[in-house]
Amino acid sequence: MKTLVVILSLGLIISNVDAPSNNAYLKSKLIPFYIGNLNTAGEKAVRIPSGSAKHTFSRLDSNKGFYELLDKLFRDQQNGGDTVLQASAKEILSIDNKMVALMLYNDRRKISESIRNRRAGRNTAQINANWDNACFCKTDANHQWKQYASWPCADHYETSVDGYTGMIGLGNYFLSQHEVDKVANLHEKRHFYGTFIHELTHTQFDLVLEASLGNLSMYGDDGDHYVDEMIPSRNSAFNEAIANAFANFYIKSITWWTEVNKNKFQEYKFPEPVKWLNENSALIADVNAACSNASVSLKQHCLTQRLSELRVAGARGVRGSQAIKSYRIRSIPPSILLHSEMIQTSIFEEYMRLFNSKTLMVKAIQRVLKNKAASTSQDMFGMVFKEMVRSAQTYKNPSGDSNTGKYLPLAILDFYTGFKIKDKETLALVTGQSWDDKDLKIDFYFESLRPNRLIKSWEAYSQKVNGDPKNPAWNESILEEFAGFLNVVPNKRVGEFPVR
Ligand SMILES: [Zn+2]
Repeated sequence: MKTLVVILSLGLIISNVDAPSNNAYLKSKLIPFYIGNLNTAGEKAVRIPSGSAKHTFSRLDSNKGFYELLDKLFRDQQNGGDTVLQASAKEILSIDNKMVALMLYNDRRKISESIRNRRAGRNTAQINANWDNACFCKTDANHQWKQYASWPCADHYETSVDGYTGMIGLGNYFLSQHEVDKVANLHEKRHFYGTFIHELTHTQFDLVLEASLGNLSMYGDDGDHYVDEMIPSRNSAFNEAIANAFANFYIKSITWWTEVNKNKFQEYKFPEPVKWLNENSALIADVNAACSNASVSLKQHCLTQRLSELRVAGARGVRGSQAIKSYRIRSIPPSILLHSEMIQTSIFEEYMRLFNSKTLMVKAIQRVLKNKAASTSQDMFGMVFKEMVRSAQTYKNPSGDSNTGKYLPLAILDFYTGFKIKDKETLALVTGQSWDDKDLKIDFYFESLRPNRLIKSWEAYSQKVNGDPKNPAWNESILEEFAGFLNVVPNKRVGEFPVR
C-alpha cells in the first residue's frame, strides 16, 4: 500500500513539472491578439497578455469562446488549462520553433464586403504593423454559417513579419456564440480545438506546390475538393493530411485517456479509409481539361488519364458541374491513391498512434524542412515518409527493449494502399525515394517479414471475417499485431487493443 502511495505521488510530481513547462513554451511562441471591431480600418490588433488572471482578458468583449481557448492554452490545470491541448500545441510549434500570432476576431457584427475582401489579403507585403490585413478567411454568402463570420484559417510566412513566421485567424462566431455552446458532449467539443490544432499545423511550413502542375489547379478544374476525392496535387493533399493527422491524434488521445480513466471503452468508429477498403468504396477524380493533351511533366497530375492507361475501370459522372470519374478503391494503385488527403491522413495518424508519439513525426518533418528539400516543390509525402522510417529506426519501446520499428511504417503504408507494395521497386515508385540504404535493410522486410508476418496476418484476419483468406478484410489489429511482433509495443500489450 505504501509503495502505491509513493508511485502515485511521484506521478503527481511529474505531471506538475510537465504542465508549466509546456505552457511556458506556449506563452513564448504563441502570441494572442484581438481585433474587436473589424469594420474600423486600421483598428489596432491588441496584444492579449497570456497566462494572466482572467480579468486581464477584459478587452475580449466577454467572448466566452476566447476565454476558454486562452485558459486552455496558457493556464495551469487547476485554472482551466488543458494539458493535452498544451502538449499537442507545443509539439506542433516546435516544428518551426518561431513565434506565431493568434488573431482573435470579433465577427459578431456584420462586416462590409470591401473590408472582408481587404482583410482576406494574405500576402505578407500587405500586412502592416497593426496586422490590419492579416489572414481573415471569410465564409461565402451561401454558407450555413452567418456570411460575415470568420472561417478558421492559417498561414506561414517564409519571411517573418515583426518576428512572426505564422498566424492563425479564429472568429468568435466559430469558437463560442453559435457553435461550441450548442455542443454539450465533451468529446464533440474537442473537435473545435482539433480545428485549432489543424490550423496551428499550417503555421509551421509553406505549401509548396509541384512546379509540374503548371496552370492546373491543385484541386482540379472545379477548384474544389471532397473527402472522397483524389486531387491533382499530392503536395496539397500532404499539407491537409498532416494537419488532419495532428488534429485527429489530439482528439482521439483525449478519448483514449478518458476511456482508460473511466475503465470503459466507448465505441470507436473506423477511420474512413479502413471502411472504404473493407467496402471497396468509390473514390473520385476530376476530368481536367488541361489533361486531354498533357505534357510529360503535367501527366503525373492527370489521374483519370493515368488510370485509363493502366486499364483501371472507372465510371463517368458529374459532381456540381465538374466531370468526374469514380473508381473502386482496391483497383487504384498506391501512387495514385496517395493523391487522397484521407489516405495520407490515415498513414500519419496510424504512425503516431502505433508509436504513441508525435515527436517521431515532428522530427521527420523537421529533417525534411532542414534539408531545404521542402522548398523545392518535390513530393512532400515521399520525403517525409522516408524520414518517418528513419525516425522509427531509433525508436525505443516503453520498456526500453530493442525493436525493429523501422519496418512498421512500411506496413502502415502497405495497409492503407491496399497491400500492393510487394517489393522494393514498387516502394521506390510509390514514394519517389531510393531504398538502398544499407542501414535500413529493406530487403529483409520484403523477403521475410512482409510475406511471412504481415500478409499472413492479413489473410488470417480475412479468413476470420469473410471465411476466405483471399477475400480481403482490413482491421487495424493487423498492424497492431505486426507492431507487437516488431517489439514496437512491449509484447505484453499485444492483444490488449480493442477490436475495431
Ligand atoms: Zn487545412
